[in-house]
Amino acid sequence: MADAHAIQRVADTVVERVRQGNKLVVVVSAMGGSTNALIELAGQISDHPKRRELDMLLSTGERVTMALLSMAIADRGIEALSFTGSQCGIITNDVHTDARIIDVRPIRVEDELKRGRVVIVAGFQGMSYKREITTLGRGGSDTTALALAAALGADHCEIYSDVDGVFSADPRCVSDAKLLDEIGFGTLEALARGGAKVLHADAVAWARRAGIAFRARKTGSQDTGTLVGAAGLEGIVGVSSSAQRRFLPPDASLDNLHGCIIHCSDQGTVIDSQNLHGELPGVPCQTLTAAGEDLLNDPKYLRNFLACIEPCLGWWATPFGLHARFGEHVDITELTRRAHATLVS
Ligand code: ASP
Ligand code: MG
Repeated sequence: MADAHAIQRVADTVVERVRQGNKLVVVVSAMGGSTNALIELAGQISDHPKRRELDMLLSTGERVTMALLSMAIADRGIEALSFTGSQCGIITNDVHTDARIIDVRPIRVEDELKRGRVVIVAGFQGMSYKREITTLGRGGSDTTALALAAALGADHCEIYSDVDGVFSADPRCVSDAKLLDEIGFGTLEALARGGAKVLHADAVAWARRAGIAFRARKTGSQDTGTLVGAAGLEGIVGVSSSAQRRFLPPDASLDNLHGCIIHCSDQGTVIDSQNLHGELPGVPCQTLTAAGEDLLNDPKYLRNFLACIEPCLGWWATPFGLHARFGEHVDITELTRRAHATLVS
């Protein structure tokens, strides 16, 4: 959804798919860079914007693209209708700027599909059970798409973006990262939770729970991208990292804690601070994740991981991920490159 031209091309694709006999729901994200621009704009107005008002502001990015795409489709002679997240029954908790979807009641979407219309949905947003507008955290339009696909019992879901699919590391920082033909739900969820931007972790969780295999592919490309859902690759298949973390010592209060918990043990708590604004709890830290299928089945994966994570401050293991925590001054990009070179075969 980079610009008007890109929206016209998406409209062409949608119309082509409809003429092939498909019923379509199209979830859109904001135009390239517009969510960042809105966050910046808020920063010019206030140092501590209320998170509720940030949600009011950020949710407009997707409303722009949903209306434009709907107009473009209508001009091609196909009936289309755009809906906000709240209009199509995306119900969330009340955590502004980082809400979780708790229920999807897509009654209006189903009605319009029955009438033969294409439904365009503003991604990344919903309505809390308190009837407030919420957003789902950066990259959250993926989650709208998969949560809706699950609720509608869709036969098929495709996630389009400006990258070819899922890579073994972020190709912007690891030059020899490999495009993966397929990846399991658990592995991708671990990579995404670990900081990979290619897909929103909650989106993968919705797909996993509903058992919906989907493709992540590049807009306008003939390539089929990465199939998510089919597990089968053994061992470590990818690495990811994040510098947007906070560490809370074991005695810190967890009351009123926002931000997804990345890890919690008697050593302390690591949270994701990407979608937090204003004053943040704890101290900054960074994390590195190596993800793959059943990593605890063979101790060699852990052994290899531990050999390449100096100078970490702590580590932990989950069935689909091996994770390490670092201080804020460590060069996490360099560590990610090193881990990719050593661990991903
Ligand atoms: N527009 C939102 C963002 O930039 C959501 C998304 O693109 O998925 O994070
Ligand atoms: Mg995205």
